[in-house]
This record gives sequence, C-alpha cells and structure tokens, in this order.
Amino acid sequence: MASRKCAVPGCTSRDGISKFMFPANETIGREWLRVINNDAVLGGLGYDEIREARYKVCLYHFTKTDWIPKGNGRQLFEWAIPSLNLPPPRTAENATVAGN
Ligand SMILES: [Zn+2]
Repeated sequence: MASRKCAVPGCTSRDGISKFMFPANETIGREWLRVINNDAVLGGLGYDEIREARYKVCLYHFTKTDWIPKGNGRQLFEWAIPSLNLPPPRTAENATVAGN
C-alpha cells in the first residue's frame, strides 16, 4: 500500500495519522504550499502535478475546527489551511537560529 509521508518538512507524524490531499481549489492549495514552505520538494511542480502525485498534509497541521468526522476518517473543510506545527517562515533571522 503506497502512502506518502506528510509534505510538511520535518514533520514527525506516525504512519497511521490521517493525511489530507491538497484541495481541489487551487487558490486554497496555493496557501497550503505557502505555509508548508517545502519548495525543495514541491517548488518545481505544477499544482495539478502535486495533486496527481498525491502529496498530502497530515492532521498535525490542522486545528479541530478544520475538519468534521466522516465514516472512519475525517473530512477536511474546503477552506481549511494548515496552521499548526509548521516550519518557520524563511527569513535571514531564522536562518541563523540553530536548533536546540
Ligand atoms: Zn505532518
């Protein structure tokens, strides 16, 4: 069973966690791309390619108000954008901070 890892750089979620495909609405999806900040993997791809390749973002990056239960899983609202556990924005200041 092929399952992709979460597309958020450095995400440590386990394999069993719910993951969500990029939304059909490209305007919303472009916001996902901006906040997850993973140009190293996704930067060269068109939006359709990202969806066709089934890149996903896991539940760790959404709040409880971003989705509703559906069957055995979860249905993400179409307007939901990842907001938790995201990489810091790229700035010169952040680039000099070492992890501790
Ligand atoms: Zn994740």
